Amino acid sequence: DTSRLKRRGPCAWELPATGRMRVPGVIFASKELVQEMDDKVAEQVANVASLPGIVDASYAMPDAHWGYGFPIGGVAAFDADEGGVVSAGGVGFDISCGVRTLHTGLKEADLRAVQKPLADLLFARIPAGVGSTGALHLSAAEMDAMLRGGARWAVKAGYGSEADLTHIEEHGCVTGADPAAVSDMAKKRQRDEMGTLGSGNHYLEVQVMDEVFDAVAARAYGLAVGDVVVSIHCGSRGLGHQIGTDFLREMVVAASQAGIALPDRELACAPIKSALGQRYLGAMRAGINCALANRQILTHLAREAFAALLPGARLPLLYDVSHNTCKEETHTSADGHKRRLFVHRKGATRAFGPGHAELPPAFGKVGQPVLIGGSMGTASWILAGAAGAEERAFGSACHGAGRAMSRNAALRRWHGRDVVDELAAKGILIRSPSFRGVAEEAPLAYKDVAEVVEAADRAGLARRVARLRPLICIKG
Ligand code: 5GP
Ligand code: MN
Ligand code: MN
Repeated sequence: DTSRLKRRGPCAWELPATGRMRVPGVIFASKELVQEMDDKVAEQVANVASLPGIVDASYAMPDAHWGYGFPIGGVAAFDADEGGVVSAGGVGFDISCGVRTLHTGLKEADLRAVQKPLADLLFARIPAGVGSTGALHLSAAEMDAMLRGGARWAVKAGYGSEADLTHIEEHGCVTGADPAAVSDMAKKRQRDEMGTLGSGNHYLEVQVMDEVFDAVAARAYGLAVGDVVVSIHCGSRGLGHQIGTDFLREMVVAASQAGIALPDRELACAPIKSALGQRYLGAMRAGINCALANRQILTHLAREAFAALLPGARLPLLYDVSHNTCKEETHTSADGHKRRLFVHRKGATRAFGPGHAELPPAFGKVGQPVLIGGSMGTASWILAGAAGAEERAFGSACHGAGRAMSRNAALRRWHGRDVVDELAAKGILIRSPSFRGVAEEAPLAYKDVAEVVEAADRAGLARRVARLRPLICIKG
């Protein structure tokens, strides 16, 4: 029911605060996208707006769809001094799931010459699929060091180089991680899963940049038309999922004890200043470091595969962004004063604009790279955080195209083998351990990513920089 929405700009819709809502909701989308969005998004945006300590508004990005408690594509910030909360469902189960993109220094013709053997080699070297394990088996001490050190730990262990770290949010390692707050079960699930892609929508994709929309930003990112890049989308595997499961259970109890009335049990949360809130933050940050280490190891495996077939190939990191996090950040409120906020981004990418102190110098003038998946058969995109994005949704943008239909509906409609054959005929090689997974992830199961990024651009969240077309997709 979109009748309650009031147009607030070319791509912004306000859901006025009524009933238990403490702040309004804002959905960033074109008229078409907002009409196609499932009704649950507006309902979930309103539910989030009722949580204690929420600041400014409860936001949904143009790719938003229904999620557990919070919508996927939801952004909400909380002030600890005003009773603000942290919510496991507001971060998501795949803590710090994200995308990193690597340069290859290759052009499309170079890649075409080795496309098939490279697809086969990547598929052989990158552990993918449900329950896949990696070559690494962590002891208890190594696990804790990894959870504290993130990609820094991985670089020290021989995966990649120091130079990678400056091109990762928080330089590859978030502070405040507390391995002791992570359950033994979560650690056990992760012991053999470092350097694995996982299943479902996770992928390692070789892509070619086929159109530039912002030449200045593309140059700052070191990208030109015809360049081949590699994008890796995955998260914190079993560890993140178990942390989510463990803390949701505790937060349901804690919310009721703290007298927080939840419009939906799935919004379970704890005051940031409570012991449980702090424990969750410590565990969730450990989960972020796990995801950063995981993508760093996968990067090393991709580099080895490229070098085996293309001697001398180097794959420097363009950037690594997470899209399931809660981060403590400084933001300036409408009345001009700065405050520390706990920003939940669930299925939403951080998108700091030009001049933000967090950004590597090379990106300072153009804004943070925003890395967006589309689907295995359509385009993916690189955007740049827009000037003023921090005043819009705390410096956040969409993270993908977003699903247009459920996995079950996709399964009824397509056969994985047909999808693979049809894409091969278009020059896109898919390698996956699961045809079922491929059917669930068929390109048409997702919204039109071009429409989504156009809405993000017009809403002033992030500017379109470049479009990428897939050549090889290793699918979990
Ligand atoms: P999520 O993080 O919500 O699991 O997925 C993020 C986005 O990745 C989805 O909204 C979808 O647009 C995109 N995506 C899913 N599968 C693929 C794929 O195989 N290749 C590419 N390039 N994007 C994908
Ligand atoms: Mn994920
Ligand atoms: Mn993801």
